[in-house]
Amino acid sequence: MKKKILVANRGEIAIRLIRAIQELDHEAVAVYETPDQRSRHIRIANEAVLLGDGPRCDYLNIDKIIKAAKRSGCCAIHPGYGFLAENPFFAKACETSGLIFIGPSSKTIYDLGNKVIARKIMADAGIPMVPGTENLPQGREGIEKALAFAAQYKYPLMLKATSGGGGRGIRLVESDAQMKAEIPVARAEALAAFNDDSVYLEKVVINPKHVEVQILADQFGHTVHLGTRDCSIQRRNQKLIEIAPSMIQNKELLDEICKTAVKAAKAANYVNAGTVEFLIDHNFNYYFMEINTRVQVEHTVTEMITGIDIVRNQIQLAFGNPLPFSQEDVQIRGHAIEVRINAEDPKNNFMPEGGKKVSVYRSTGGFGVRLDGFVYQGYIIPEVYDSLLVKLTVHGFTWTETVSRLHRCLENFVIAGPKTTIPFYKNIVQDKDFISGSFDTSYLEKHPHLFLYDEDASEAGKLAKLIAEIHYRKRNPFAI
Ligand code: ADP
Ligand code: ADP
Ligand code: MG
Repeated sequence: MKKKILVANRGEIAIRLIRAIQELDHEAVAVYETPDQRSRHIRIANEAVLLGDGPRCDYLNIDKIIKAAKRSGCCAIHPGYGFLAENPFFAKACETSGLIFIGPSSKTIYDLGNKVIARKIMADAGIPMVPGTENLPQGREGIEKALAFAAQYKYPLMLKATSGGGGRGIRLVESDAQMKAEIPVARAEALAAFNDDSVYLEKVVINPKHVEVQILADQFGHTVHLGTRDCSIQRRNQKLIEIAPSMIQNKELLDEICKTAVKAAKAANYVNAGTVEFLIDHNFNYYFMEINTRVQVEHTVTEMITGIDIVRNQIQLAFGNPLPFSQEDVQIRGHAIEVRINAEDPKNNFMPEGGKKVSVYRSTGGFGVRLDGFVYQGYIIPEVYDSLLVKLTVHGFTWTETVSRLHRCLENFVIAGPKTTIPFYKNIVQDKDFISGSFDTSYLEKHPHLFLYDEDASEAGKLAKLIAEIHYRKRNPFAI
């Protein structure tokens, strides 16, 4: 039976969700705030509801979104990623108003969104993890506990916001003096960002690889994994490039991590799609980091190597269907790489380029190429949202083929107007350490030459200049 599903998100993920909903022969209801009124997700949805002027606050307004769903006759809400996706109160509000929340239960989101509770559940299930503290007590007692932990486990340590996410609320601490100074600051920041000032400590894994496992689970006790992804290439603890499967040449280790991910999901009574994140050190020890209770930005690479539509399955699982395949049916084929093309200036500490107009947008295509985006020529990038413009995902039979496909696509792709991460990625695909799979989370720091490129000499740079010149001439027809 045709159902109506509200998409509580924007940008590329809203479009990704709308496509899956329509392919299931359901109808998608988009929501938006005024700065997004020219956004493409509104046009491709079956209906759209203006939430308010925003910016950002309406996409986060639980009450308005539930009302929009009820008024438009929706039976379910897909939260995407970011915004309310990992907010247990939102999932709870859906549950109590009779709407299906497309994701795990509010209880699971609550438990796993709290890094300390999540670590406790995983420790009880025997999942390996780095040593860490519980929530640090307030005031002097907290600082004393932190110093005692440092004396036992030695610096460097990671001071983390217990409710943190999206790479925010994590800081490296290297001395007692820094610890004393940082705890109050970290608390204040965590309170402002996550509405919870709890912080705790973890031992640092030096230059680890970030490897994560996609899992899918139904209500009937079946949990499968869809293999690994490497997300080590990061800036400010946020991912830029993701690869599936992991390039680690140790099949037993990767198999074990996948099995551990299934065990971790079962320990949390997990239903729907989720991601179990691990860190791997240079001696091939692996440590549980967290479970993300939502669809990830980088889910595309897993879809490309398995042929399994994760969003479609999320919807079907939330409607109470059993998983339509078993672990043995999941076959990994080839390699996939996703690059997040952001409106950011890598040379200027990845400063966002919001507010600029996309004067030229010439995308790429071809065999094994997938684009998940939402911008178009003439689109003005709102300053108030994140900087992701389009995800370029390539799939190839061999790693070498995949890298050269990505290189070719990046050469074809022209976005003029805002600065983007494209020229930076062009350097990465030609870097020998990237090509040989020798990278960990310190990759950007250790490869400063990646930041050397001449933007003005690129096709995008030349076009942007030309267009600026044409606009100038139009406004000043008698200029010499
Ligand atoms: P992924 O693991 O899928 O790459 P990220 O951790 O990069 O996801 O986060 C995905 C999106 O969700 C980003 O836009 C990020 O800013 C946002 N996000 C994640 N967690 C939070 C949070 N707790 N508060 C605000 N935004 C968040
Ligand atoms: P978030 O919820 O913001 O995604 P995570 O706990 O998943 O936070 O950590 C994000 C990133 O921070 C990791 O991918 C890794 O690069 C780094 N990181 C987190 N914890 C540690 C640790 N204990 N040792 C080393 N790096 C870490
Ligand atoms: Mg994480």
